[in-house]
Amino acid sequence: MIILKIGGSALTVKDADKPTIDEVNLDRIAQEVSAYNEDMVIVHGAGSYGHIYAKKFGIGDVIGNVNDHLYKLEGLCRTQASVQLLNYIVVEKLHEKGVPAIGIKPSSFIVTDNKRIAVCDTKIIKQYIDNGFVPVLYGDAVLDYNDYIKFAILSGDQLITYLAKDLKADRVILSSDVDGIYTDNPKTNPEAKLIDIVTKDTELTLTENEDQADVTGGMGGKIKELLQLAEEGIQSQIINAETPGNIKLAVSGQEVKGTIIK
Ligand code: ADP
Repeated sequence: MIILKIGGSALTVKDADKPTIDEVNLDRIAQEVSAYNEDMVIVHGAGSYGHIYAKKFGIGDVIGNVNDHLYKLEGLCRTQASVQLLNYIVVEKLHEKGVPAIGIKPSSFIVTDNKRIAVCDTKIIKQYIDNGFVPVLYGDAVLDYNDYIKFAILSGDQLITYLAKDLKADRVILSSDVDGIYTDNPKTNPEAKLIDIVTKDTELTLTENEDQADVTGGMGGKIKELLQLAEEGIQSQIINAETPGNIKLAVSGQEVKGTIIK
């Protein structure tokens, strides 16, 4: 079974000031996904559909007073509705390309404790897979057991590491808007070099992209999650979703240029 993550930076215009889909990328990526030939779960990022609201309302920050609580209630509602809309758009596009995609809302069955998944029963996901469907989950805003924060952002990257372990994935592929992990941010440092293999001993510079409102830690957050997965013996690969053909090769089991995390 494959777990495929489609990065929010490839699906949406991530630095837009309102939720904005990248129509051209979405259409091509969905077409490429339809070349899959084994069981598959898709997790997509939230991109500008999530980060704008999560940041504005400070989801995951300590709740100060009653007014702040009310403000964050509104924030949770708006963030969830926005990422659910993105999921609907992605699922609908996959249907158009012949993929039996089933949108599954993470916040309806996942609760975090201090921002890490504490409750997540994947039985229903397994049953959809066994019936030939392709479940499509996403980065979401969820309830958290920690009373100081009450709500948290669950990144698509945390979700794939959890699902990969729990569903015993054979392959974990993450697609983003860069070719993989570089020695430094390739968008700001033209000297940055692509790294073929990253392990816990690899030295990296992970700068935040100032114009990107990523509340889930960007590439740094991703590597942290994937190194944890590697500790469990599951290796993963980061590839570029913006290079035509990459996702098609990846989902059909062929080699793609990128970074392996092991
Ligand atoms: P996604 O939304 O696709 O999951 P993110 O936006 O969270 O991906 O992370 C990808 C971004 O991380 C890239 O667009 C890149 O600008 C940035 N980045 C920062 N440091 C690095 C690095 N060392 N290697 C690769 N990308 C990096």
